[in-house]
Amino acid sequence: MPIRILPKEVASAIAAGEVVARPASVVKELIENALDAGASRIEISVKRGGRELVEVADDGIGIPAAELPLAVARFATSKLRTTDDLHAISTLGFRGEALSSIGAVSKLELVTKVEGEPHGSRLVMEGGRISETQPIGVPQGTVVRVRDLFFNVPARKEFLKSETTERRRISEQVTRYAIAYPEIRFRLTQRGRLTFQSSGNGDRREVLAAVFGVDAARQMISLPAAEGPQVKVEGFISPPSIHRGSRRGLTFFVNGRWVKDASLSAAVLQAYHGLLMVGRYPLAIILLNIPPEEVDVNVHPTKAEVRFRQPEVVFSITQRVIRATLLGQAPSPVVDFDSRWSAGGRMGKPSVINPDWALAHPTIEEGQPGSRQVLQPALPGGALPLLRAVGQVGAAYLVAEGPDGLYLIDQHAAHERVLFEALMAAHDQGAVESQALLEPITIEFTPAEASLLEQNLEVLERLGFDVEPFGKRAFRLRRLPVLLVRIAPEQALRAVVGDFEEDETPLSSELEARLAARVCKRASIKAGQVLSLAEQQQLLRDLERCKSPRTCPHGRPTMIHLSVDALERQFGRRG
Ligand code: ADP
Ligand code: MG
Repeated sequence: MPIRILPKEVASAIAAGEVVARPASVVKELIENALDAGASRIEISVKRGGRELVEVADDGIGIPAAELPLAVARFATSKLRTTDDLHAISTLGFRGEALSSIGAVSKLELVTKVEGEPHGSRLVMEGGRISETQPIGVPQGTVVRVRDLFFNVPARKEFLKSETTERRRISEQVTRYAIAYPEIRFRLTQRGRLTFQSSGNGDRREVLAAVFGVDAARQMISLPAAEGPQVKVEGFISPPSIHRGSRRGLTFFVNGRWVKDASLSAAVLQAYHGLLMVGRYPLAIILLNIPPEEVDVNVHPTKAEVRFRQPEVVFSITQRVIRATLLGQAPSPVVDFDSRWSAGGRMGKPSVINPDWALAHPTIEEGQPGSRQVLQPALPGGALPLLRAVGQVGAAYLVAEGPDGLYLIDQHAAHERVLFEALMAAHDQGAVESQALLEPITIEFTPAEASLLEQNLEVLERLGFDVEPFGKRAFRLRRLPVLLVRIAPEQALRAVVGDFEEDETPLSSELEARLAARVCKRASIKAGQVLSLAEQQQLLRDLERCKSPRTCPHGRPTMIHLSVDALERQFGRRG
């Protein structure tokens, strides 16, 4: 083919792909614009995981009517003037690409008003063409509605993950900004329900509570303000008792901008070295402040990657501050109950994402600063004492007696843990038992899943799956792990493939641990299954033999402990 200049629509759709890969990237760009506009309130609402609608409304300075068409033009920005400005960028945006890119691949509506103008204005754009602009009566601020994302680029649509995954990514995106900007009020509505909100009162721990649950937030450790010659570090990290199965709980902000940076992740993980199980990761939100000339943010269209002028300095100060903070902690975290975080305390509805919290912790003594939580998840560390099965409650929990009181055990979580350790032990010896299907079956995947599956065939093999490519998007499944034989084979493979993440390339050992955890989740005893006393006792014995009996492979507690001491206090036998 001869060389030709691409038609404008094609060129802009390609450029758009760099900035907006998925609904969560739209959310990110629009939040950044609202922050740059000095908003104090940002409300995000989303339908169908952002495919149908992403709406971001703010009360910032707005866009003057005369400039509105420019705002959606490529490389049009109010934030930079000369190349000199590029060396010390203080706003989140500067490339003038987001609105034009989003407008090129969606149906975009922008409604905005600046202070002092008699009315606001509205602009509608479809697939990169402005179809109307008109005056409109609206309050000061900006609302951007992005409908039918990728309606004109079907190939890109196919690469979106399930609605649940896209929804999760959006919610991660919103909550991380809410943590970084506690003085701004964020609200996120998904599928017509308010799923997250922060109050905007500036209290970062309060936002953490809304994101991770009150309990985790209370235990998160605040980093002491640390200042190197060029770097200021602040933030929160989890104690070693709180951990996750992936690095997704690691969040970094550099000068107020969310960034992904492998060396910063490595610095955090190195700081936790020896304090966490293999395959487990902490939660951390690290906010770095660096003189703008020390960091280049103009590296990538999404602005999510940065380049430090002195990466070693940034790495070592981050690592040292975290390590020192962790080692300075008491070895077993003391769970002091501060009334401020109690359910029904000052925060009203503290935990939208985790509404079951109050139910799960029914006997918390409220309002007495320093009073202890009575029922507490047994924290990791140490072997289990011998437990005697007493019975089962609600076909979901085992009641057991130990030398030091009562234990309530989540049968599903406990069984997951038992299976996980057995599977990982077999896996480490390359001896995972697998069983052949009578008839191999052919399963078709989406292009995105198929390419991930293709890359991970070996990992699957080590876990007991025998899968081979069979045509473009289809795969043939011949064997699967014995643990999963009771599950429909197709469902078993899909469940595991659902755990591949395209934007993370974890070490294969991490991925394998995560997939193994998923296999065990599928294979384990469910809540609702009635167990005989002998079966209960067997599960307890198996759990006692585990290396980490107190959490399931996904990091949730397997048990809650009510000590004799706490019982006595509850019954008023002791003060
Ligand atoms: P950039 O943020 O890199 O400047 P964008 O395409 O995201 O580029 O936005 C283009 C311009 O539109 C911005 O420079 C700003 O002037 C204006 N703008 C976008 N969103 C908002 C908003 N929510 N409030 C006020 N102005 C906005
Ligand atoms: Mg922008």
